[in-house]
Amino acid sequence: MIEIANVSKVFGEGQAGFTALDDVSVTIQPNEFFTLLGPSGCGKTTLLRTIAGFHDPTSGSLLLDGEDLLPKPPHQRPVNTVFQNYALFPHMTVAENIAFGLEMLKRSRAEIRSTVGEMLELVQMTPMADRKTGQISGGQQQRVALARALAPRPRVLLLDEPLSALDFKLRKDMQLELKRLQHETGITFVFVTHDQEEALAMSDRIAVMNAGTIRQIGSPREIYDQPAERFVADFIGDTNFLQADLLSAKGGAASIRLGSGAEITARAAPGSGGAGGRVTLAVRPEHAVINGADSGLLPGSLRQVVYFGTGTQYHVDLDCGGSFVVREQNQPGREQPCQAGDRVGIAFAPGCGQVLRD
Ligand code: ATP
Repeated sequence: MIEIANVSKVFGEGQAGFTALDDVSVTIQPNEFFTLLGPSGCGKTTLLRTIAGFHDPTSGSLLLDGEDLLPKPPHQRPVNTVFQNYALFPHMTVAENIAFGLEMLKRSRAEIRSTVGEMLELVQMTPMADRKTGQISGGQQQRVALARALAPRPRVLLLDEPLSALDFKLRKDMQLELKRLQHETGITFVFVTHDQEEALAMSDRIAVMNAGTIRQIGSPREIYDQPAERFVADFIGDTNFLQADLLSAKGGAASIRLGSGAEITARAAPGSGGAGGRVTLAVRPEHAVINGADSGLLPGSLRQVVYFGTGTQYHVDLDCGGSFVVREQNQPGREQPCQAGDRVGIAFAPGCGQVLRD
C-alpha cells in the first residue's frame, strides 16, 4: 500500500517558485491498477517521480507498506519505472536488457538465467531473446522495457505514458497486455496518462488531476457517471452542461428547474446540497434521446446530424439558449428520426444527469 499524504512540490524558490504538486493525498491499494490522469502539466509525472525518488517533495510524507520511503534513494526503493521512451540499450540483446537490473543487484547467475527466461515468457518474447533491441519493433521494445522493469520483482511498477509512442491498434493490444501482466504478477501498477479512454479501459481506480491537485478519485464508472465537479465532467468524455436553478437537494438527489421551465430530479455531486442558487446539470450525450417537436424536456431546432458508423450525433440549438448534443446508437433498419432544420425535443431519464455547484 502506498500512502501519499499532503505532498507538495515547489520547483525553484521565492517568487520564481512553481507549485507542481499542491497538498496531494492519496492511498494506493496493494495489487491495484491505479491511474493518474489529467491534462499536460497537471503534475502527473512529478508525482510519479516523487514516488520513484527522482524528486524530493517540498513537504508531505510517502509510505510504502508503512515504511518511510523519503530517506531512500531511488535504487533502494522497491519500485521500478517504465519510461515513455523505453530507455533500452540498443547494443544489447533482448535477454541482456532484461538481465541488466538483476546484474546491478548482483543476483546469482542461476537466478538471473531463470528470471530472464520467465520474463521472456511473460511478455511473449522468448523467440527474440538474442536479437539486439535496436532490431525489434516499437511494440516489441515496449514488451522488453516491461520485462526489464518487472524482472527484479518490484512491489510497485510506475509507468509514465508507456503506450504513447505506439500506433492506435498496437496501443489497444498493449492495454490488454498490461492488464494481463498486472493481474498475473500481482504488482501494484501506477500508470500515468492524459488519454481518458485508456484510463477508463485499464484502471481499477483513477485520480483525476488538475493544476497540481487531485480533483477526484474513483473507479472508472464513478468518475464517468458521477463526476464531482465541472472540470472532471468536462475532461472525461463528452458532456452537455446546462444552467439550472436549484429547488432543493437532499441525500445525493437534487430537484432543479431547467432554462426551459421543466422541473426534474437528478443526482447531486457532494457539496451541491442546500436550496436556491444557480447550478450546472451535466448530461452525457448518450444518456439523452431525441424526440419529435413538443415532447421532451428541452425544445429546440436540429442544427446538424452527424453519422459516424456506430452511432449518430444530433446537434440541437435549444430554445432556452445554448446547444445540446444527443448521441444515439445506430440499429440496422432504423430510420433517422429527424433532419436538420426540424423542430425537436430532448429527453433524458431522471437520474441521468449530475448536478454540479457552479
Ligand atoms: P505531461 O502530460 O505534459 O507530461 P504532467 O502532468 O506529467 O504533464 P509534470 O511533468 O508533472 O506534468 O509537470 C508539472 C508542472 O511542473 C509543469 O508545469 C512543468 O513545467 C513543471 N515542472 C516539471 N519539472 C520541473 C522542473 N524540474 N523545474 C521547474 N518546473 C518543472
